[in-house]
Amino acid sequence: MGKQKLDEEQKTQERIKKRQKKLEKHLVICPHCGAKVLDHMTKCHVCGGVLVPRGYQPVDPKKMKLFKGIGWAIGIAAVIVFIVLVILYS
Ligand SMILES: [Zn+2]
Repeated sequence: MGKQKLDEEQKTQERIKKRQKKLEKHLVICPHCGAKVLDHMTKCHVCGGVLVPRGYQPVDPKKMKLFKGIGWAIGIAAVIVFIVLVILYS
């Protein structure tokens, strides 16, 4: 076996290792059955258990209400301004 071929093989091995490491970053352990699953999955492919994907943040219902309230306030204010302008300029 020539030295060059050996080097190439080593490089290939390293590349495979790197790829595996990258993949491992996205692996999480299923809390239901302990299987390795990908972090973006919402369901375990082994046991079907529900998973919380990484980066997923449940929407705070209180905040949601606040945003909705602000949206309503802005909408109503815009309508009032519009009515006032129509009255003023008619
Ligand atoms: Zn599972």
